[in-house]
Amino acid sequence: MKREERIERAASLICRARHAIALTGAGISTHSGVPDFRSTGSGLWEAYNPMEVASIHAFRRHPDVFYRWVQPMVRVMWEAQPNPAHVGLAQLEQMGLLAAVLTQNIDNLHQRAGSRVVFELHGHLREVTCLDCFRVWAGEAALQTALRGDVPRCAACGGVVKPNVILFGEQLPSQVLSAAMEHARQADLVIVAGSSLTVMPVAKIPALVHSRGGHVIVINNQPTYADAFAAAVFRENLEEVIPELVQACRVSV
Ligand SMILES: [Zn+2]
Repeated sequence: MKREERIERAASLICRARHAIALTGAGISTHSGVPDFRSTGSGLWEAYNPMEVASIHAFRRHPDVFYRWVQPMVRVMWEAQPNPAHVGLAQLEQMGLLAAVLTQNIDNLHQRAGSRVVFELHGHLREVTCLDCFRVWAGEAALQTALRGDVPRCAACGGVVKPNVILFGEQLPSQVLSAAMEHARQADLVIVAGSSLTVMPVAKIPALVHSRGGHVIVINNQPTYADAFAAAVFRENLEEVIPELVQACRVSV
């Protein structure tokens, strides 16, 4: 299928969907300057073994090492701005064409672009939790402490606080997860945007939607298993494809 036909087909599926959701991963934020921390070449995962630094067990033993390791990521995420792909998904929501964004990212860029229904399956940096008394605090002050090279602590009990992101060895946030999966069960269209679909439970959602007769659109620089049954595949940059889809939807609604 030619590219313009694929854009048209994808846009018409989006327009006709009863309950469309987007699944987003690191690829949607690379254009905003947030590297894919799992991929080689970003430098951040190479100096350390993430399993050793970014697991909950390692965090409890050596929070100072964790905070040193996380410093460059925090800095990058604070400076990052939403790009046209984030903005496009927010526009689809405003147009009533997208019910929810399910994201593996922790960078807050969907919300900053204007998306309102966002499920952050791997957590976020807006809050930290004390590992001793479980009080929850705003994340910014704690992360600023971390950027100064200190381990942030609970103002109430002095315990070490941990960002509300999911580390290796931790459960995904169950309420977020079950609400997100409810959207996935209702969905008759899923837009895969910048995820290679290798991490569960997000990875199984396109297959689930497809098995129930729904459609899948894949926009990702790398092949995914869902390409085989997707209604349209774009192996291109999201910040170009998504605004084009939004424009095509505007024309046809
Ligand atoms: Zn505390």
